Amino acid sequence: MAIETVNPATGEVLKTFTPHTPKEVKQKIEAAEQAFQSWRDTSFEERTRYMNRQAEILENEAEKYGRIISLEMGKPLKDAIAEVKKCALACRYYAENAEDFLADEEVETKAERSLIAFEPLGVVLAIMPWNFPFWQAYRFLAPALMAGNVGLLKHASNVPQCALAIEEIVRKAGFPDNVFQTLLIGSGAVNAVIEHPHVKAVTLTGSEGAGSKVAEKAGQEIKKTVLELGGSDAFIVLNDADLEKAAETAAKSRMVNVGQSCIAAKRFIVEESIADAFLQKFKAKMQNLKTGDPLKDKIDYGPLARVDLAEDLEKQVQESIKQGAEVVLEGGREDKNSAYFKPMILKNVKPGMPAYEEEMFGPVAAVMVVKDEEEAIKVANDSRFGLGGAVWTQDRKRGLRVARKVETGAMFVNALVASSPEMPFGGIKKSGYGRELSYLGIREFVNQKSIWVE
Ligand code: NAP
Repeated sequence: MAIETVNPATGEVLKTFTPHTPKEVKQKIEAAEQAFQSWRDTSFEERTRYMNRQAEILENEAEKYGRIISLEMGKPLKDAIAEVKKCALACRYYAENAEDFLADEEVETKAERSLIAFEPLGVVLAIMPWNFPFWQAYRFLAPALMAGNVGLLKHASNVPQCALAIEEIVRKAGFPDNVFQTLLIGSGAVNAVIEHPHVKAVTLTGSEGAGSKVAEKAGQEIKKTVLELGGSDAFIVLNDADLEKAAETAAKSRMVNVGQSCIAAKRFIVEESIADAFLQKFKAKMQNLKTGDPLKDKIDYGPLARVDLAEDLEKQVQESIKQGAEVVLEGGREDKNSAYFKPMILKNVKPGMPAYEEEMFGPVAAVMVVKDEEEAIKVANDSRFGLGGAVWTQDRKRGLRVARKVETGAMFVNALVASSPEMPFGGIKKSGYGRELSYLGIREFVNQKSIWVE
């Protein structure tokens, strides 16, 4: 895939980038390693200063960077600005807490003294997707740099200006040269980076296929990986739910980023007795959303990030309908050359259909009606993904009981599934492994070292 900025709202190619050559990539890896040799010895106080400065830049210049996001991947400007501001939260969170999270842990043993120390690993490669082009990168960047690691970012090929902007922000914040660099490379050039002896670990946020390839290579090289992959989150509505709130959140959750979010609700599992009432409200919310130009109009949703993504989604929908799914809300594409895709709701979604088995990365809701709580849990777990999920009930005990039984990395009771710096984020099953955010996230890329003193 060419490394270029294509405005998804118009299809116009705005800027094309020449990829870094293998020689340039090697030089950048070497420069990163050199930077690590001094960065690893900096104090938390110094790292905190740069990290807080970075948060200020993100807050003060949120609109400038938000415009780049909207231009490259099509989300409404207000959402892009909110994304940039959220990155500042992650920076401040780790600026404030990293020292505590990585403090030596004294352990009682028969030794005179024994402790666990958390030491940086070195150069970490981050392979990131376009859907939250700032937030995904900062979820890695903030803890990694605070831990004393240095980063190399291989961003998705359709968001090169976001990637370069992040590098610029790190530089403007005062971090030393080469502590964080962007590699403008396609996915075909990733293996050579993983093979390089200076590169100690890899984190990837993206699709199952990309995760599997990158983990395979890193496995050959015996290098640690964290994988944040796809999801097909269940949104369970039980018979005692507040249907108004549930329907409102259901629409919000399915339409986050026009459905292009790993933790968007994708499978709506609804108890029979309230199914019609819920569907009526849900449909009303979904059909009232406004679309238009992400940079100009006051809109709820923009185009998908690329035309090929809209085509893929359309194929999943058509195949599901062919196999018997029923259209509750008409939508989809009006123009075959466009990345715009109107929200849709499908019901009678059954095993074997793409809408049941696969992740639908766009504004299409798959509804399944079940007879009771037990069947709802069974259907929720009948997925190869295990990222997030939600359950709606006015009985919190019941909500907690269901939440514990659903096989995912996160469950939310009566709330929108979202990430926040304090809580760990990640999946199980084909949604990946490892955790980002919280104290668990910063401990992924450190040497958890036992020190024994007699
Ligand atoms: P993608 O095609 O897998 O791309 C993600 C990144 O991986 C891009 O930088 C891409 O580079 C790179 N890549 C792709 N194939 C590769 C390979 N064989 N070797 C090395 N690198 C490779 O995913 P996407 O379409 O951008 O993003 C959507 C997916 O990400 C969805 O499945 C979504 O659920 C998932 N996601 C997960 C999380 C999470 O936290 N769990 C968060 C957001 C998104 P190129 O662009 O150059 O191909």
